[in-house]
Amino acid sequence: MIIVMAVGHTEEQLRAVVDRMQLLGYRAHLIRGVERTVIGAVGHEDKTPLAVLEQMQGVEAIIPVMKPFKLASSEWKKQRTTIEVGDVRIGGEAIAVIAGPGVVESEEQIFAAARAVKAAGAKLLRACVYSYYMSPYTAAEFDPEKLALLGRVRDETGLRIVTEVFSTKDLEAIAACADVVQIGARNCQNFSLLRLAGRLRQPVFIKRGMSTTIREFIMAAEYVLSEGNLQVILCERGIRTFESETPFSLDLNAIPVIKGQCHLPVFVDPSHGTGRRNLVGPMARAAVAAGCDGLMIEVHPHPETALVDGAQSLRPEQFAGVMKELRRLAPAVGRTL
Ligand code: PEP
Ligand code: MN
Repeated sequence: MIIVMAVGHTEEQLRAVVDRMQLLGYRAHLIRGVERTVIGAVGHEDKTPLAVLEQMQGVEAIIPVMKPFKLASSEWKKQRTTIEVGDVRIGGEAIAVIAGPGVVESEEQIFAAARAVKAAGAKLLRACVYSYYMSPYTAAEFDPEKLALLGRVRDETGLRIVTEVFSTKDLEAIAACADVVQIGARNCQNFSLLRLAGRLRQPVFIKRGMSTTIREFIMAAEYVLSEGNLQVILCERGIRTFESETPFSLDLNAIPVIKGQCHLPVFVDPSHGTGRRNLVGPMARAAVAAGCDGLMIEVHPHPETALVDGAQSLRPEQFAGVMKELRRLAPAVGRTL
């Protein structure tokens, strides 16, 4: 349910409504818009009807939200969410680009990648601080030294850091360094991790699970929002289909489908979404044309020696070429880069 407060309501009336909601067993999420104050009610609507609130002073209307997600819903918040990461504004007119290697490998590698993506115009650096995680024998250990390297890269280049957290036990350490905390496709339905990320102060970047529906994907965001962190970015990264030419099929439908019902910024990762470097540019352009708010692109100084994802990583000069093409395309769809 959404409680819409009347224009000119008093603070006292607002407090009374929130108190009453809490008494009825709901959590109240307040949004003070330019014109309106609205309250999102989170709780078991089937058990306790909130219609009683309609009689209270200062309340204009109670609107049921039909979707299972509430705080992520455009019914609850009409304006699109924008998120500031340093001087980068995500979700506005400008398309934000997050670029970098799959994982931090060495000081030389990460600094070379950082300098290359910065020179091409990216303002956010991506890199994972775990060793490769696809096999129990190569381990998925969190490496604090790699995280410290990312901290140095930020200090020396000014790039903002996007890095993934795999497990609740590492969240605090990762969040202490990362400007944006990434939750990967394989953790898209790790509800304890999502909840914990909801207590963070910084933006959370959730990648779509390769077999989650769009609704389940938005529900992942709802977990974070419901804990009070309203800075959530969603990233489409390809889903599993019967198609075998590429490891995943990049579901660009997700962009307009999500944006039609959810106010959060939507990114696309054409690197994981295609698995092949020659497809990254075309799909990045398609994503921008379809209305994405940003891109995550893998770039490695030497893809042929990359520890992970070399086949989908762009060389620095290829990334610069993709950025140049995107800069030409963006104005045609009312965006900048
Ligand atoms: C990544 O971005 O490094 C990654 C592992 O992606 P995904 O979680 O989408 O597979
Ligand atoms: Mn990767």
